[in-house]
Amino acid sequence: MDFLAGLNTSQKQAVQQIVGPVMIIAGAGSGKTRVITYRVAHLIQKGIDPFNILVLTFTNKAAKEMRNRITTVVGGEAKNIWMGTFHSVFAKILRVEANKIGYPNNFTIYDTDDSKSLIKTILKEMSLDDKLYHHNFVYGRISNAKNNLISAQEYQQNEAIQAEDFSNGRGFLGKIYETYVNRCFKAGAMDFDDLLFKTNVLLKEHPDVLYKYQNKFKYLMVDEYQDTNFSQYLIVKKLAAINENLCVVGDDAQSIYAFRGASIQNILNFQKDYPDVKVFKLEQNYRSTQNIVNVANSIISNNKNQLEKNVFSANETGEKIKITRSFSDNEEGKSVAESIIQERGNNNLEWKSFAILYRTNAQSRSMEEGLRKLNVPYKIYGGLSFYQRKEIKDLIAYFRLTFNPSDEEAFKRVINYPARGIGKTTLDRVILAADQNEKTLFEIICDAPKYLENRAALAVADFAASIQSFMVVAKNSTAYDAALHIAQQSGLLKDLYADKSVEGLNRYENIQELLNGIKEFSEREDLEERGLDIFMQDIALLTNDDNDKDPNKDTVSLMTIHSSKGLEFPQVYIVGLEENLFPSQMALNSRADLEEERRLFYVAVTRAEKKLHLSYATSRFRFGTLINCEPSRFLDEIEPKYLELEFTQKAPRESTGFGDERNKWQSKTAEKPIQGDFFSKPKPATKAVLTTSLLAKAHVPTAGFAPSDTSKLQTGQEVEHERFGFGKVINLEGSKGDLKATVFFKEIGQKQLLLKYAKLRIV
Ligand code: ATP
Ligand code: MG
Repeated sequence: MDFLAGLNTSQKQAVQQIVGPVMIIAGAGSGKTRVITYRVAHLIQKGIDPFNILVLTFTNKAAKEMRNRITTVVGGEAKNIWMGTFHSVFAKILRVEANKIGYPNNFTIYDTDDSKSLIKTILKEMSLDDKLYHHNFVYGRISNAKNNLISAQEYQQNEAIQAEDFSNGRGFLGKIYETYVNRCFKAGAMDFDDLLFKTNVLLKEHPDVLYKYQNKFKYLMVDEYQDTNFSQYLIVKKLAAINENLCVVGDDAQSIYAFRGASIQNILNFQKDYPDVKVFKLEQNYRSTQNIVNVANSIISNNKNQLEKNVFSANETGEKIKITRSFSDNEEGKSVAESIIQERGNNNLEWKSFAILYRTNAQSRSMEEGLRKLNVPYKIYGGLSFYQRKEIKDLIAYFRLTFNPSDEEAFKRVINYPARGIGKTTLDRVILAADQNEKTLFEIICDAPKYLENRAALAVADFAASIQSFMVVAKNSTAYDAALHIAQQSGLLKDLYADKSVEGLNRYENIQELLNGIKEFSEREDLEERGLDIFMQDIALLTNDDNDKDPNKDTVSLMTIHSSKGLEFPQVYIVGLEENLFPSQMALNSRADLEEERRLFYVAVTRAEKKLHLSYATSRFRFGTLINCEPSRFLDEIEPKYLELEFTQKAPRESTGFGDERNKWQSKTAEKPIQGDFFSKPKPATKAVLTTSLLAKAHVPTAGFAPSDTSKLQTGQEVEHERFGFGKVINLEGSKGDLKATVFFKEIGQKQLLLKYAKLRIV
């Protein structure tokens, strides 16, 4: 198959240039990712062993999509390519090599919550003011240091850093950093940044290991190179040092992670690092209409710091860009939902053709409300992962402790959950004893009578014995059997089962869903190792998007602009275009920050293929109060000739330039009496019924859904569940009042439901 026919001349050249360093810096939608995909397929067709190819992408989802496309060209061989995010790829390598740098190979990965909880503990132990040393701030500092490869020692020896910390009255940051690192090490844990930091340490201290991977990964490709931080940059540089078959693609105009230490300097330095680099320019945007590309160009031209680029589209001119003004955030949600319904009908589109993008996660609430009221199915991307729910984390903490009893955060999470009478004082004593005796918390409780008084010793000894018994079970059983045993014997299932509130039932169901997932995992035939420990490694780096079981489901996508990078949708709504929200209030202090916000806007705009809608509200609830909002300055930066204005309430339609309109509106808002929905208090963040569980991807209940009386439900009957959709009852058991139905749902498979709580409608 001549798949190269789907490329233009420069793209083809870049694909065929397989030897030596290659850099493609080009605008959005110009086919950078496509070049990487085709390049990999081309390499394999040329006889390069897929095992020798490493592709680093921005999300695991992107890697999955790329792999699927490559498979259509080269077939099953594609599964042998190493492909994924920096974090997932190097976590995999560390699993094999961690013992060389003093970590157990089954190290735990601390997620952000674990890291912050550890920081809080340290602050308390050091009696530091948690306002001055707020855990988010401290976490950010440590993360930043790690991404710049500054160790705790170097941090404390660096005069500039010390001077800055001291002048801000935060002289203990270095000490906190050092303690944090030591505690992670002692717990056999790495945080997210460690996955890169420790990879750097490994490659630096062990030339043999470096050599091994240099030889393995003979061909390297990196997508979204503009957002790599120093730590990532150095790993890539080292791995590519022998063969120099390195191809990076990126767009300086889309660099949106400077706050996380990513630096477009990497792009600029590439030419210095590899003087004989072949640079390819891609200028044609294949994604969007001319109008959208022109708007994007006009936005980004306001940034001083950018590489010259000439992006054009040969697609149709397209419709003008719509700007909608609403009187409140709720009104905005409603107008977006209505517009989606209308556009879908007019253009015969699917729901999945639409995306709603926002600057901050909190904005999803009003959007969700609007969509739900009109029964529009949607899915939130990048939200809380299933694995970040409390009950799931609790059970996983038991698993973690079973495989790595040194894991301090897992220990603290479950030592007294479910409640077993181990109070804070006892825990503090255990922590103190561990510190004084240089032992782990678990070692202390295994030898409890030596360190604790009688009563406390008894309680913790029991807990230690349970964990030890879990270790034995885990060693000798399948992942599923071990998981079920732990869920039951820890008391966790029973505890959740006892909670008969709707939330409690939900949590219980989530645990069951986790167990189902583990069962599926233990039966996977494509894996050689299927132990519970392997399952845990698999999930440690997952985000909500990655465990999307059915990515093709027809739903509207909601996400922050940050997580929309690299994606494309026929129609895009960018909402909340207001001063202090977008650009964010935090970005108004410096040109550099404002330019980053503008790049973010550029990213958002360039996700749209056919039609772009922009909107803002003139008032919004933020931090619990109603505030008046001004339209974003970014709207003024768009040339009026590309715009079309619209209002959600019966305001006169005006065709003047946007700047005029804004001035007029501001004076109007000042005078206008506030009424109706506009003033009504927002409902508390309503639970996203459609997204609360992995189980409940996007069933839209039938209009007028009302639960039926299920006391006489019979096997074989068809039912509809509010969230799980349609299914058939395959079994009924239990006594009256506690009757349990096993239902086979079309969308999600088999589930057992307690009838008195399950909201079922007999169809
Ligand atoms: P971004 O900067 O947003 O990541 P990108 O430069 O990676 O964008 P791609 O996602 O690779 O761009 O391509 C954008 C769209 O254009 C995709 O739908 C892709 O399939 C299409 N495309 C790219 N090159 C061509 C081509 N030569 N012919 C037809 N379609 C193309
Ligand atoms: Mg891309």
